[in-house]
Amino acid sequence: MKEERDKQVAIVTGAARGIGRAIAVELAGAGYYTVINYRSDLEAAEKTLQLVTESGGVGEIYGFDIREADRVEEVVNDIAERLGRIDVLVNNAGIIKDGLFMMMDRESWQAVIDTSLNGFYNMTRPVIEKMVRARSGSIVSISSASSMLPNRGQANYSAAKAGLNAASRVVASEVARLGIRVNVVAPGLIETDMIADAPKDHIKTLIPMARIGRPEEVAKVVAFLCSDAASYMTGQILSVNGGMC
Ligand code: NAD
Repeated sequence: MKEERDKQVAIVTGAARGIGRAIAVELAGAGYYTVINYRSDLEAAEKTLQLVTESGGVGEIYGFDIREADRVEEVVNDIAERLGRIDVLVNNAGIIKDGLFMMMDRESWQAVIDTSLNGFYNMTRPVIEKMVRARSGSIVSISSASSMLPNRGQANYSAAKAGLNAASRVVASEVARLGIRVNVVAPGLIETDMIADAPKDHIKTLIPMARIGRPEEVAKVVAFLCSDAASYMTGQILSVNGGMC
C-alpha cells in the first residue's frame, strides 16, 4: 500500500469499456494508480481492473454517474483524501443519441449535453481545485471529430463536444501559470460498442487511412498528453482520426 500511495493518481471516467478502458490500462502501464470510473456495469469495470492488474498496474474501480454534480464532488474529495493526490483527470465518458435535428426530442438533446458538457464541468471543477492547491496536474478530455465537422444527425453531440473543446481551451488559459495543463483529444471513428451500428463501410471511404481506429491508438495519445513529454502543451486539441481534415 505504501508503494501505491507514492504513485501518481489518475482518474478515468467511463472506463468500464471502449476507449476509457484502453486509457485506464495505458495509464496504469505508465505507472499511475488508476481510478476506473463506471456508471452501471460493475462486471465490465472489474474486467478493466483485471486488465490493469495483468499488465502490472494498480488501481481501483469507483461507481458514480458524472451527471450527478454533488455525488461527483463527494467522490473527488474522497479520492483526494484517501490517495493524497490527483495528478491526472481523463474526461472520457460520453454517449450518443443521434437523430436529425428536426426530429430530435428534448430528452436526446439534454442527455448528451448533460453527459459530455455538464459532466466535464462536474468532474473538472472539483479536481482542478485540488490541482491548483498542488500547483500541478494534467486534464485531458475526449472530444470528437464531430466537434469540428458537420456530422448529420449529431447536433446534440457536436454541440456538447464543441463546448468541451471551448471550455477546455479557456480553462487551460486560466490555469497555465499554476502548473496545470488542459488538453483535448478528438478521435475520429474508433472501434467500440458506441459505433456498433454505424455504417462503417461507407465511413471508411471518408478516412484517408481507410480503416477505423483502435481504442489503444487514442489511449497512447492521451497518455502522452498526461505525461511530462507534453510539458509545454496546453489548450490543444489533438485529432486522432486516420487523416480526416
Ligand atoms: P463506449 O460507449 O464504449 O464507452 C463510453 C463509456 O462511458 C461507457 O462505459 C459508459 O457507461 C460511460 N458513461 C456514459 N455516461 C456516463 C455517465 N453519465 N457517468 C459515467 N460513465 C458514463 O464509447 P467509446 O467509443 O469508448 O467512447 C469514449 C469517448 O470517446 C466518448 O466521450 C465518446 O464520445 C468519444 N468518442 C468516441 C468515438 C468512437 O468512434 N468510438 C469517436 C469520437 C469520440
